[in-house]
Amino acid sequence: MQNLIDSDFETLEKCPWGGDKTAVEFLYKDFMGCEIVRCKKCGLVFAKKRLNKTGLVKYWSDYLSRVHLHDSTAVDKRNKMYEIDYKLINEYVKEGKILDVGCGNGSFLKLFEINGYDASGVEFGKEAADNASSEHKIYYGEFPKLAFKDKYDLIIFRGVLQYVPEPKAYLEKGIELLAPNGHIFITAQPNMDSLCFNLFKENFTQPVTGVDFIGYTERLFTGYFTAKRFKKVAEKYFYEGTPYANIEEDILKVAKAIECKRENKEIGFKAPAFYGNMMSLVYKA
Ligand SMILES: [Zn+2]
Repeated sequence: MQNLIDSDFETLEKCPWGGDKTAVEFLYKDFMGCEIVRCKKCGLVFAKKRLNKTGLVKYWSDYLSRVHLHDSTAVDKRNKMYEIDYKLINEYVKEGKILDVGCGNGSFLKLFEINGYDASGVEFGKEAADNASSEHKIYYGEFPKLAFKDKYDLIIFRGVLQYVPEPKAYLEKGIELLAPNGHIFITAQPNMDSLCFNLFKENFTQPVTGVDFIGYTERLFTGYFTAKRFKKVAEKYFYEGTPYANIEEDILKVAKAIECKRENKEIGFKAPAFYGNMMSLVYKA
């Protein structure tokens, strides 16, 4: 990755969800010194200082090889999660056109293609988009600004909304592109209402940082989609049965963290995978 400099960052004066200047609660500073806060009005967790457009292009330009494909066990585990996610959404959408927003190199997309869906993807990272284009139908660029000819029966945001600067622009674009009775699937989404995030904060499995700059709760999404006349049809928090779960060890780690908190000591270790950490939500138009 090219080095990040001061001009690659921006500072937010307003909550990126509500769009208003509200009181915030300070939570912690991330590894780049970015201040992470929680909006007292809506509950969104966000980085007040974060990468701006130039910083993001730098960061994502080589993400695929630098992070995503770096560790082969991590890739195997992620592939297993793709199957778990696929199984959930397949209960609701069994065929048709799907769009995977933030599809990376297309591994999740591929599961849908194999199973007979007409699948396309959107990717902001140049390297991943180029890589995916050789095998899949890919739109390269910022989702809200792209033009599409089709409507989709399913729009997927898998582990992606924490990275988008204007989350509502992404969700609105998703709604605009949805076919009648279509579904929106938000999954692999870190849950800021979870026991572990509130306990471990910057040591959470996927903390909010100047790069992963927005953290959501189920309440925020459901409030948003309910106002748009969508219905929540599924709400899951995958943990047991995932390749990340090591239940006894995980419980011990969480217990140790609770002990540290009670004794006012710093929790100097990473949160384990745990109940409630990650959410999967399905909304129907
Ligand atoms: Zn807010």
